[in-house]
Amino acid sequence: MDVPRVILVPCLRDNYAYLVVGAGELALVVDPSEAAPVREALLREGLSLAGILCTHHHWDHVGGVAELCDEHATLPVFAHAIDAVRIEGRVTPIADDEHHELAGLDVHALHVPGHTMGALAYRIGDALFTGDTLFAAGCGRLFEGDAATMHASFLRLGALDDATRVYCGHEYTEANLRFAAWAEPASQAIAEKLAWACAERALGRATLPSTLASERATNPFLRAANAAEFARLRTAKDSF
Ligand code: ZN
Ligand code: FE
Repeated sequence: MDVPRVILVPCLRDNYAYLVVGAGELALVVDPSEAAPVREALLREGLSLAGILCTHHHWDHVGGVAELCDEHATLPVFAHAIDAVRIEGRVTPIADDEHHELAGLDVHALHVPGHTMGALAYRIGDALFTGDTLFAAGCGRLFEGDAATMHASFLRLGALDDATRVYCGHEYTEANLRFAAWAEPASQAIAEKLAWACAERALGRATLPSTLASERATNPFLRAANAAEFARLRTAKDSF
């Protein structure tokens, strides 16, 4: 399996865009919240932009799309059909389970509705970009889907390999682990990861990527036995 190099690009207050490095110094960007930090990262790394992948239409994930498109006349932009119409710029709508060859990389789109109805996760080699669906130790808010819909999306992501590297849309890990520790007070894995995340954040470092193995051990939403338990957790997290 491909193990693409992934470069974190901090954006806004706690968002991440990601550069995925393909063949010939080409890179894809996932969720460019802003154009400037993405442009700077490309320049610093000596990479040219070959495509934009949007996990969903919210402004804090697509804010830089129009500007990057203006600078690159033929840049392909992908989003799920439902969210594509809500993104400014020329977006190519894609559907569940489509594969696209971009920058020499196989990009596999997984439809994971719940946060928005058109939410996508992208699988590129061993890297998984989950947007605001699955966070490290957490789960996105149910803006458009219900708990059953999001639970089904989690089951799908949860079926991927243990070694899958998980890159999500926000640096929410520490707060999510505090909730996880409340939900599963006896969990050693959660307590240890919380201590680690606090230490990393105190040093100003990112806590991503996670892995699916780590998520299986520390993400209460991935560990939920059924849709009812998932719904209970999501409701509890809303007022935590
Ligand atoms: Zn969002
Ligand atoms: Fe977001």
